[in-house]
Amino acid sequence: MELCYSCNEKFTDSNSSQEHILLNSIGGRLKSKNLLCKDCNSKFGYKSDRELSKQLQFLANYLNIKREKGENQPLKGLISESGKKYNLTDGSKPSLSKPEIEIEKQHDQINYSISARDEKELIGILNGIKKKHPELNIDEAKKHFKWKEEYLTESLTHNMAIGGNLAFKSIVKTAVNYYIFIRNEKSQIEHLLPYLKDNEELSVVHHFHPKALPFKKEIEEVSHTIHLVGNKHEKALYCFIEFFSCYSFLVLLSDNYIKENFVSTYTYDVIQNKIIDRKVKLLLKSDFIKESIRNPELNFKVVKQKLDRVMQIGDKIQNKKQVSIIIENSVQKIFERFSHESKITEQMIDDLSNEVSIEFAKYLHRNQKK
Ligand SMILES: [Zn+2]
Repeated sequence: MELCYSCNEKFTDSNSSQEHILLNSIGGRLKSKNLLCKDCNSKFGYKSDRELSKQLQFLANYLNIKREKGENQPLKGLISESGKKYNLTDGSKPSLSKPEIEIEKQHDQINYSISARDEKELIGILNGIKKKHPELNIDEAKKHFKWKEEYLTESLTHNMAIGGNLAFKSIVKTAVNYYIFIRNEKSQIEHLLPYLKDNEELSVVHHFHPKALPFKKEIEEVSHTIHLVGNKHEKALYCFIEFFSCYSFLVLLSDNYIKENFVSTYTYDVIQNKIIDRKVKLLLKSDFIKESIRNPELNFKVVKQKLDRVMQIGDKIQNKKQVSIIIENSVQKIFERFSHESKITEQMIDDLSNEVSIEFAKYLHRNQKK
């Protein structure tokens, strides 16, 4: 469109901005410069988008999703069995949420035991202790520290609930963005704008997990899908949205749709980073849509199956990543060990094989313990 659909300002070179139709934080690539002006883009749906991003972050990190801009944000505050808090950056590297300091008093002596995540953090903590105990020699104390990479042997728990009013709003916004992007008009969704601007509440979206899946997935596919249907006989404009091939929703954009019939589908595989050409079969009656939103049938089994499938794909990605880390580290070690050699020798190849097999044995042992 030529005007921002939120504030009706005409687009110019200076106020236009790229609006992600699917959130950037979950690997969305579909975007348009003809939806929202710069000003509206930065405010409109900010809170709800942030909430949905937060809820889907675990999968984004676990699947190592590439974002278009910015880094994956660490998932904060996961609790381990022993009650320690961890952050999870990309699924393979949990780190303590905060450094740990244990203090033990023995008569006139105080023992500090510190787990810091890097040297900078350690020095910061030591400086803090020095304020209380000026006699502390930081350089001397540093000598007693050992740096080690530890594998986490206990499991982490995380609340994976998706939904709620705020997240729902972001899902409706995706559907609205897609409608305007495809149809280049806003008369049929205009009534949703006060809801998207937080000025009123509506019930137009809910979880939707039909037993008969509306399309067939490719074997290793993990994708986001938007499927939009306008049906003037049913007076219905509705949108099926699925994130990470797991969580799907039905949005009723209008029950008074009067424009032409159309169907439009967009599927983006976030692992392969490619658009998938997809045929979706989802012809719904107006009354059924309303009832599904008012009174959703939450099909636990379907959600479980979908989640199970995606977690297994994620597990493979994590394993592959670990394998290449092991090999890279081993090569690094060998090059350091033989830094005086000017060419590759048989000894180096032998040592590399040994190194790799030792590291793999450790890795497999660890995995079995899981
Ligand atoms: Zn605007």
